[in-house]
Formats: sequence, structure tokens, C-alpha cells
Amino acid sequence: MSIVTRFPPSPTGYLHIGSARTALYNWLYARRHGGTFVLRVEDTDRERSTQEAVDVILEGMAWLGLDYDEGPYFQTQRFDRYKEVVDELVAAGKAYPCYCSRERLEALREQQMSAKEKPRYDGHCRDNPDADNGSAPVIRFRTPPDGAMVIEDHVRGAVTFDNRELDDLIIARSDGTPTYHLTVVVDDIDMGVTHVIRGDDHLNNTPRQVHILEALGATRPVYAHIPMINGSDGKKLSKRHGAVSVLQYRDEGILPQALLNYLARLGWSHGDQEIFSLDELTAAFDIDGINKSAAAFDGDKLAWVNQQYIQTLPLDELVRHAEPYFTAIGIDTSDRAQLDAVVDAQRTRAKTLVEMAEKSRAFFGALDGLDEDAAHKHLRGTAFAPLKTLRERLQALDDWSLAALTATVESVAESHEMKLGKVAQPLRVAVTGSSASPSIDVTLQLVGKTRCLERLDSALEYISKRLDAA
Ligand code: GLU
Repeated sequence: MSIVTRFPPSPTGYLHIGSARTALYNWLYARRHGGTFVLRVEDTDRERSTQEAVDVILEGMAWLGLDYDEGPYFQTQRFDRYKEVVDELVAAGKAYPCYCSRERLEALREQQMSAKEKPRYDGHCRDNPDADNGSAPVIRFRTPPDGAMVIEDHVRGAVTFDNRELDDLIIARSDGTPTYHLTVVVDDIDMGVTHVIRGDDHLNNTPRQVHILEALGATRPVYAHIPMINGSDGKKLSKRHGAVSVLQYRDEGILPQALLNYLARLGWSHGDQEIFSLDELTAAFDIDGINKSAAAFDGDKLAWVNQQYIQTLPLDELVRHAEPYFTAIGIDTSDRAQLDAVVDAQRTRAKTLVEMAEKSRAFFGALDGLDEDAAHKHLRGTAFAPLKTLRERLQALDDWSLAALTATVESVAESHEMKLGKVAQPLRVAVTGSSASPSIDVTLQLVGKTRCLERLDSALEYISKRLDAA
């Protein structure tokens, strides 16, 4: 049997990381078994669906690298097909028109509520030859009135539902448009879906959908309902907890590989391993490894995973991912060798690509002023003489290697009888404008000779002015 999985988001907002995890699990399962991964946009709720939300889904999937073999299908383009199925069900007596007015249903509901019963349709039009009152009917599915539906869920185990709880759900509205349960079932059948891996907020829908599916003569797919993602407070993850949209994580400088790795592990485990390449994940992923309880989202751990990826990704790949964050803050990245060297020097120093770019401004173009606190603390009178000597020796230095740069800074500290840090830190502030940068030799090399000398001049001037003012 060839495996077909699907990801069917409703385009009503952003791409939630919980949905991205669902997409990932389906993608991994299809990839692992050489199957087909289908993307289906469930846009039948025309009031809430937007093109913008569709774009965000496609952009998020592309950024994560979750490619699909079929789709995107759009349910709004399949209304003829749904109508055909509804007609078929009605013709077979498996669904029926219901003419009950809103008022009648409302009264029924109130009556049931006050009798402390669960509100459900009472089957008024079910087998009633006099039901047709000339109004446009909805179509209801004829759910077995008693008995039970057992769902063999591959995460939860067997879950039993009492059919009496399900009532005759509406599969087509009075304007002829299909409802959610019908479209999902028809699509899963038509698209040959063999495995439905989705959030367990859909578990209660499953018996209803299976009834329809079986009424249509189809075999059940395998169901695996994955527990939700909660925030650290144990409540369902939402905007209150911070970023929940995939593209927001992209904008914050998280690598797609890191987000995938983190999401894969959030609710699924394979021994103690934390870091997985996508190939490793694909080889290891199995439904059996999905946890049975809700996962708690942990932003610190995601940051840690991201750091691991920033540190270990092949340099060319890291540069490719990092560059847009540099250009986004106005850095000219046309000097490729410089970009490579800076990214390599910063990869152990940044938790996100945003941070990496921010910390790298001093290595490109002109210095955008000095950090006030750093200048105040380190560019003081005592630093003037060593910085002046450094200015001279660095000017005379032709070999701009790390070893020669280190030796120069050390020798200046020695001749001024100062601790290395007392010289290196003012130097760092002078050439980068800030008190944090890679080691001083690497920093000098990345800033380059011309810029180092210019900036030392400015720093000396800054100290002079300060001394004059005092
Ligand atoms: N469109 C549904 C949602 O976004 C998914 C339905 C399903 O997985 O069956 O929640």
C-alpha cells in the first residue's frame, strides 16, 4: 500500500507552529515511507478565509522546506464534487433534507437545555413524509441512532463514542454549500489519504467523519491524533505565550532547520537524541513515538536548538540563511569573503540570525557612532597612550594575520605595563563602537586595517575632547 498523508489548513490567520508540527509529522511519515504528501487548503468558510492567509501558509511551508507532492488543492474549487456526493447520499437514503426552521431548532434546544439534556437534533424530518414545507432544506446525514463507534487511534488507542451523542449532522447548508465534515471526508477519499495525523482537537469529529466515510463505502484511514501544544502554564499555546506564528519565528532569526527539529521533538521522541538532521528525522520518525500527553512549548529550548544549528551548519548554508538578516538592516553584503568571515566569527556568539546581523554592523561600512556606555567606561584618559601606540604599530603592520595582530596588542600592553584587557577593551570599543565582539585579533582582522586606523583616530579624538572638557 502506498502511503498518502495530508495537511489541510484552514486559511483564516497565520500558520500556527502547532499546525506546522502537524504538517511536519505528515511530511515525515510520507517521506519515510516513500509516500505522497498532499496540501489541501480548507477554505470553505468564505467569511473567515483570506488570500493573505493562504499566502502565509504557502510561504511558511516553503520556508520550512515542507514540499508537497500534490496540491495545493482548494476546497472552494471542488463544490461540484461535494454536491455530487451529497446527492448520492440522499439518493441512497443515507442523508435526508431537513426543513426545520431556525425557530423550531432554537425552541428544541432550549427545551433540552432546561431538561438538562445534551442539545441534539431530534430527527423530526428523518422519516417524515410531511416534512417538506416548501422552504430550502439543509441536508442531514443519517447517523445510526444507537450503537457505538470505536476509533482505533494510533496515539490514543481505542476510543469509543456513543452514536446517540452524534446526532444527524448537517452536511449541506440550505444554500447548497457543503459543511466541513463532508468536505474533509470526500477529500480524504478522493485524494486516497491513508493516514490522518492531526491535532487531537479533531478527535471528537472523527466518529462523525467515519460514519460518512463508511456510508460512502470507503475504508477508514489510519488515525493518529496528536496531543496539543501548551504554553508553560499548561494552557493551550496562544499569542499570550509569545510568538506562535511560523513566519514570526523566521523574522526573529530562527533557522527553519532548528524550528523543524524543535517541533519534531515537541511531542515525539526517539531515545534521548535532541538534534536531528532532516534525514535522520525522516529515518526515525514513527507514529509510535508520538507522546500521549500534551507537550509544553519551551522558547528557551528552541533558542538552544537554534544555537546548535547556527554553530554547526555548513558555512555556505549558514551564510545563505543569514544574509537576508544582514541586508534587512541595511548592511551591504556584496563582499562575499567578508560576509563569510563575519558569519563564521559570529556563529558561536549569536542565538539568532537577527542578533548575528545586529552584532556585525561594525564589520561593514562606516561605524554608526559609539555605544555611549562602552565609550564612557573604556575610552578614558588612561587609554589614550596605549591606543596611540597601537595606532602607530598597527599602521606599520603589513601582516594582518591573527598571530601578528595578537602579538601587536600584547606588545603594546607590555610596553605600557598594562594588563592585556586594559588595552584590548578600549581598542575593541574604538574599532567596533561596542564592548562586545569576537576575540580582539579576529575583530581587528574583520574590521580591516583602513577602518581600524580611521576608528582609532576618532577614538583618540574622542578621548582628547573628553580630557579637554574635564
Ligand atoms: N482544516 C482543519 C484545521 O485547520 C484540519 C482538518 C483535519 O485535519 O482533518 O484544523
